[in-house]
Amino acid sequence: MGTKHGNHTLDQYIDTEMKKIITKELERQKNQIILIASENFTSQEVIRTMGSILTNKYAEGYPGDRYYEGCNIVDEVEDLAIRRCNELFNSNYSNVQPHSGVQANTAVFLSVLNCNDRILSMNLRDGGHLSHGHKQNLTGRYFDIYTYSVDPETEIIDYENVRKLAKISKPKLIIAGASSYSRIIDYKKFREIADEVGAFLMADIAHVAGLIAGGQHPTSIGIADFTTATTHKTFRGPRGGLIIADKKYSSLINKSVFPGTQGGPFMHIIAAKAVAFKEALQPAFKVYAKKIVENSKALCDCLKYDGFRIVSGGTDNHLFLIDLTNKNVTGYEVSETLASVGIILNKNVIPYDNLNPNITSGIRIGTPAVTTQGMGVGEMHKIGEYISYTIKNRDNKAGLNDIAQKVKKLVNDFPVYSNMTIP
Ligand code: PLP
Repeated sequence: MGTKHGNHTLDQYIDTEMKKIITKELERQKNQIILIASENFTSQEVIRTMGSILTNKYAEGYPGDRYYEGCNIVDEVEDLAIRRCNELFNSNYSNVQPHSGVQANTAVFLSVLNCNDRILSMNLRDGGHLSHGHKQNLTGRYFDIYTYSVDPETEIIDYENVRKLAKISKPKLIIAGASSYSRIIDYKKFREIADEVGAFLMADIAHVAGLIAGGQHPTSIGIADFTTATTHKTFRGPRGGLIIADKKYSSLINKSVFPGTQGGPFMHIIAAKAVAFKEALQPAFKVYAKKIVENSKALCDCLKYDGFRIVSGGTDNHLFLIDLTNKNVTGYEVSETLASVGIILNKNVIPYDNLNPNITSGIRIGTPAVTTQGMGVGEMHKIGEYISYTIKNRDNKAGLNDIAQKVKKLVNDFPVYSNMTIP
């Protein structure tokens, strides 16, 4: 390649070793049923934008106020992304630079907390996220973490208990948001509680951002002081994060993202976020978000009917948890067996789980990716049948082979990236 590498055309991969790996991963994504609640198939327009020459540009700072020359064009990229984000979420300030959801959260923490300040967040075991206070995470090491649980009977957030805990612990920040919670989160109730104890409220909508954008979950914007999100789960954009707040917080948040917790922004990713915001502004995205929830409810009902215990009894969003305790099998064993027939999901702790996160009593099932593929309620019934059969007949080799064939046939009927080749 020498110094001329900038001149070769893009019609062929030069690194054939990497080409082989990416080709294999493309085939895997096309040939398995993806039920991981945090994954999706982003559009080819988003993929193309992520792969653009915008990756070459250093742009520390913000539009119109950069530390490098030559930023006038990438300023247009970031301005466009911010404009579209604000239009979509009906906000007056957003920061589209966070590289990920955890980065977005960390920037908010840096903006309003000092070391040892108190955070009240959802227990990880009950659905919270590592970045909300796990002892190995920066939050657990530098802040004083109090957690709230779901009600042991209903497995739904007990807002009165959150209020009680807030009054006892007097946190500086309350976090509303989860990774594996299948019910609507009432941000207004969290706001009331935060106001009663004088705390800031951060809503982490990493999982439900696409549902909020598509009108399928109440919004946190205008209610929480800070909303953080990922752009790659239900939102179906590039891998990344963002922060939305009232513009009175703009300089505080901007400083906390850069130079507080990040260096140069990924301009190719910010451009891809802008493309995804535009996609989410189309009427079709509302239909997509509605179908995600319809599919989630259909698959959940199907498995419930077949004798599986669903945590909290059902779902209002894109995911649900199955408690496998009464089946005498762990989440680890089930997720491995399902993977062997081409059904990909993750083991997950359930509320009050006695097993550790590597084993778990549960599995988490989500429908954003299969919905992008165009599958509907009829297909959810088939998938429910395959999951149920596989769990109940996990020692029946011939039966599992038959399911693997059925899985292949189903995904082939709903192709993704069918015109995509790795040149
Ligand atoms: N917040 C919540 C609630 C999440 O579920 C996740 C990811 O699973 C994150 C934050 C972290 O996002 P990322 O992996 O982009 O850092």
